[in-house]
Amino acid sequence: MKPRIYVTRRLPARVQAQLSESFAVRLHDSLEPPPREQLLAECAGVDGLLTTLSDRVDAELLDAAGEAVRIVANYAVGYDNIDIPACNRRSIIACNTPGVLTDATAELTITLAAALSRRVVEGDRFIRRGLPWIWAPTFMLGRSLIGLTIGIVGLGRIGRRVAEIATAMGMKVVFSVRTGAQSGESMQRWEHRSLADLLAESDIVSLHCPLTGETRHLIDARSLQVMRRDAVLINTARGPIVDEDALVEALRGGVIAGAALDVFEDEPAVHPALLDLENVVLVPHLGSATTAAREAMGSLCVSALRTVLIDGGTPANAISP
Ligand code: NAP
Repeated sequence: MKPRIYVTRRLPARVQAQLSESFAVRLHDSLEPPPREQLLAECAGVDGLLTTLSDRVDAELLDAAGEAVRIVANYAVGYDNIDIPACNRRSIIACNTPGVLTDATAELTITLAAALSRRVVEGDRFIRRGLPWIWAPTFMLGRSLIGLTIGIVGLGRIGRRVAEIATAMGMKVVFSVRTGAQSGESMQRWEHRSLADLLAESDIVSLHCPLTGETRHLIDARSLQVMRRDAVLINTARGPIVDEDALVEALRGGVIAGAALDVFEDEPAVHPALLDLENVVLVPHLGSATTAAREAMGSLCVSALRTVLIDGGTPANAISP
């Protein structure tokens, strides 16, 4: 008999076909996540769960799923939605999708930085409004990324890739990390700063740390005050790392020059004030949204589920306690 799994969202067709080869799949076949009560009811009695970042995987959910569950494969690299100690207490392996979405997310980060600095989205809105315009020496001037300093908060897989692309584009890269310790290789290529110094120096501050107790509201009113008035903030990490109320105030008051956001504090809700600001670029959590990345994320989940539920092993992408 095939192991039973519950999948909380419609996945790319290729991934669903891979899942069906090996597992008896119970699928929440929707673009929307299951409402909590439905999730708790539908996951009961399975051997494994394939969840997304919208599903809160906590003790209640694991208990509802029952004693047979041996793995939670999270279709995301961030796992702030998972209570890892609750999984550990039940000997459930939790895993994520590191690496396969690094390029896609780094590329979107640079795209957002360029769109904001060169006023691409603002220009598009301007034309669509049907406003009169003609080329003029002082019309809608922006800033070239080349030569700017980008400050990377969290030099992990994605942060490092952004640093590499930025370097290739002729930007100066500075970075801050949690511990202050970094490998010699990154120290040689890029300059380490304390978070405060990074905020004070960077033209572009780009967030690439995970959402944890420590990073929630890491960017608050005080840190925004430290940033330069001509600087911009890019967030392709997780919404709650930024205090959105404080960001709105900073943008309104000219404390910083702009922001580009892929993620939001109360997703999918967007702070209404952000919608009215011209110096803001908003995209709906598209960091890993390429066909190749989403299929690769699915394949990693399938492979982890097979390793645990068919081979009885531990996948390489298991999240360490
Ligand atoms: P990663 O390789 O684990 O990198 C995260 C880095 O952040 C690590 O180097 C970590 O350092 C560092 N860090 C942790 N706490 C920090 C702090 N307080 N200050 C500065 N740095 C800190 O993860 P990744 O693959 O690059 O992904 C990073 C995050 O991006 C994910 O957690 C996820 O939330 C987000 N993401 C978003 C999208 C999207 O669609 N927008 C797509 C993919 C990922 P330590 O080693 O010291 O912990």
